[in-house]
Amino acid sequence: MKAKIQMLRLFLALFLVLGIQIHSHESAYSTDKESTSGSTKKIYLQDYSPPDFLIPKTQLHFDLGPQRTIVCSELQVVRQKKDVALVLNAEDIEILHVMINGEELDTKDYIHLDNQLIIYSVPEDDSFSLRILNEFNPEENKELSGLYYADGMFCTQCESEGFRRITPFLDRPDVMSCYTVTILADPVQFPTLLSNGNLIHAKQIPDGRFEVTYDDPFPKPSYLFGLIAGDLAVVTDEFVTMSGKNVALEIHVEHGQEGRVSHAMDSLKRAMAWDEEVFGREYDLETLRLAAVRAFNMGAMENKGLLIFNETALIGDGSCVTDGCLYWIEDVVAHEYFHNWTGNRVTVRDWFQLALKEGLTNFRNQEFSADMNSRTVTRINDVQVLRTRQFPEDAGPLAHPVLPKKFTTPDDSYSCTTYLKGAEIYRMMLNLLGKERFRQGMDQYFATNDGKAVTIQHVLAAMQSVADRDISQFARWFDQPGTPLVEVSMAYFEDKKEAHLTVKQLPPKVVISHDFKPFYFPLAVGLMDDDGFDFVLDCDEYNLDTTINLHIDKDEETFVFKNIPSRPIPSLLRNFSAPVKLDYPYTQGELCLLMAKDSDLFNRYDASQRLATMELENCISAIQAGTSYVFSEKLLKAYGNALNDDACDNALRAEILTLPSVDNLIADMEIVDIDAAVKARERLKTAIANRYEDALVFMVDELNIDTPYQYNAVDTGKRALKNACLSYLGSLPGGHYLTLVAKHFESSNNMTDTLAAISILCQYDHKLAHEALHTFHCFWENDPLVLNNWITAHASCDHENLVDDLKALCFHETFDIHNPNNMRCLLRAFFRNLKLFHNISGKGYEFLVDKIIEIDEFNRIMATMFVAAFELYPRLDSVRQELMRAQLERLCDPSLSKETRGAATRILNSLKEENQLTGTSPAA
Ligand SMILES: [Zn+2]
Repeated sequence: MKAKIQMLRLFLALFLVLGIQIHSHESAYSTDKESTSGSTKKIYLQDYSPPDFLIPKTQLHFDLGPQRTIVCSELQVVRQKKDVALVLNAEDIEILHVMINGEELDTKDYIHLDNQLIIYSVPEDDSFSLRILNEFNPEENKELSGLYYADGMFCTQCESEGFRRITPFLDRPDVMSCYTVTILADPVQFPTLLSNGNLIHAKQIPDGRFEVTYDDPFPKPSYLFGLIAGDLAVVTDEFVTMSGKNVALEIHVEHGQEGRVSHAMDSLKRAMAWDEEVFGREYDLETLRLAAVRAFNMGAMENKGLLIFNETALIGDGSCVTDGCLYWIEDVVAHEYFHNWTGNRVTVRDWFQLALKEGLTNFRNQEFSADMNSRTVTRINDVQVLRTRQFPEDAGPLAHPVLPKKFTTPDDSYSCTTYLKGAEIYRMMLNLLGKERFRQGMDQYFATNDGKAVTIQHVLAAMQSVADRDISQFARWFDQPGTPLVEVSMAYFEDKKEAHLTVKQLPPKVVISHDFKPFYFPLAVGLMDDDGFDFVLDCDEYNLDTTINLHIDKDEETFVFKNIPSRPIPSLLRNFSAPVKLDYPYTQGELCLLMAKDSDLFNRYDASQRLATMELENCISAIQAGTSYVFSEKLLKAYGNALNDDACDNALRAEILTLPSVDNLIADMEIVDIDAAVKARERLKTAIANRYEDALVFMVDELNIDTPYQYNAVDTGKRALKNACLSYLGSLPGGHYLTLVAKHFESSNNMTDTLAAISILCQYDHKLAHEALHTFHCFWENDPLVLNNWITAHASCDHENLVDDLKALCFHETFDIHNPNNMRCLLRAFFRNLKLFHNISGKGYEFLVDKIIEIDEFNRIMATMFVAAFELYPRLDSVRQELMRAQLERLCDPSLSKETRGAATRILNSLKEENQLTGTSPAA
């Protein structure tokens, strides 16, 4: 399933396990018997037990109706353990009858209790057949989990535990089954009927309805079951695999959107070819179907042979979505496709192992995107997201190991840590083992585990089998939470011509020091002379090179570099070789040199960020002290040089010129001061714009493209740099350049430039922003997909009446709170608008909580997701903390879902935990 950041599915579905004795075999894990508070019962990895029964063969028959859908499931059940009842998961469904080996059971032979169907009288035979007839109302399924009916179509979402809402089943990933699925529906309303696998039969039955049957020969867990029924248009293509097989490709979209999927189709074909070339993985079914759905809780879902996408992750061309969005579509399509091997053919044994499929698949699509686009800029974007989303998570109340040891529901493991840090772990394996060995390790992993449900241990074992040293220490990346701090110091010995680098690992904040065990990771280093040229590095057992991947595996270690003629400047953690926080006492002058000359382009960018952060931190202190601050000449010059640095392409220059985000600036503050961070950032931006006004105007003109829109590296780079320059100009006092920005809005022929202009206007001028938003709305009035941007832009505005404006927007005809995309655009953009969300009036917190309470009634999955916006709670000043506490307590009301209450309680408790650690009493 694709998170990719903005869509990151932090929480999904539910997991209710009863603690009573008879149910002790129903689940893969038993619950915490000590716990008495119903909402926070913990499930432990160590309690995992294999299933009592297996279901090798599953036949499903769907009689689809929006208000009443009847499912008949015929299961071949194989007993694994003697003397136990068969306990199936079954939630929000009505059982009509149960048959075993052709004989109907009496209702006293089974019981349907809450979320389980318990069948007492199952034969002691090794194998028997079970037939269950059940029904439910898909239209009332507003949670969009299981099979639901919305916007005129049926759709499924079964990961992680939605299948139990369709039919009773052993709904756990280690029960893999081969599925045959028959769908019966009215052909006028639902001419499109899709499921997993190969279509083996389609016919009209005597009552006029249509019936299709799909067969999926590959065993899969129930969370990969997929079904779509609706009236969709189809765009077709084909792909010839490396062994010469023809695969039919289909993209199913709403009528009228057919012209907007060529980018997705091309991305799919590129991903299929790339996976063959880089990982040797070939597609295995006759057809691969992709479908776009409007009412979808997350980004996309990798159901076997039937990839289901939120329409925003599949549909788009340059006129209606931005360059960033086209990049995202390529990335998500690839991610879902790559799951076919990492997730589907080899799946997870239990939900603690989520990083096995998500971290690995995320790493694979990051590498794919790097090959399709600028490798450096792709890496920069991935690291930015890691630093702004995962690092804070890893240091806060939601910190957990990549392989969690316990959770309240499997949904807890859908986090930035699993996806993003998970991906970094596989990247480190690649860096430590080298390309060739890493590929051999992956081949070994697929060969041994194909068709199985496995654990993180299995991938580590495969890598160990090809490694030339013991890599068991590497497993700590899965077991220890927190971002490690790495301190590096250097001594230079003129007489011996030696540079000594000492590397020290310090325990992350969330790990108690005496429990900390050092990680094993690659630290890529280079040493530069005063002119920015790399020295050739001569270090013990490493091969001579200008960049060396040092293997770090101790608390502290010193590396000696010989034959270094003069005191070098170290370039550390090149290409961000490990997910650590690195500390080295760089001088401003050294950072300027790295920013201008480092042969590692990622580190040029990183130096720009360190340089600006250093300066901004000083400015923030001055603001807090009420004194004035003058930005240093060296810094301003470095930005002037970067503006004209032809060695970097336009896209990279745009990244270097973009100042560190407010999220980054507050990341290390003990008590966050958002207002000061926003002010300092704005001041530096204006100072740079002031100094280079003429150059910026010249570049905006020079980079403007007046030919028809094209999505390619050259043009996207030009647009990115032009809009970065416009954003600087927009910050100049008096708003002199905002009319220029408005002109660019009017003349734009693509969504990238249009939204960039709107975003600048929304930040600086309410009136011009309002006019632009009005024009935008009139133009795209009939295109709900595009109008999501209109909602986002509104919520990103910087003006004091924003909360009132947003309250009014909730009644606008364009906005529908039941539409997950509308909801997400509004609320996510708002809580990321840090200055306004955390406004001292407290209105922002109140507004968000009002909305969460409203959403909780019909979509608790989404409601829970938005609670994460309050994560800064323990680090706020006492006034804001008190305002937030009052709102969080509203979310603990017993009338709300246990998921939402649980998320709010966890955040409230995080302050208590922090106070216990530091020995202080809570604010207020
Ligand atoms: Zn995924």
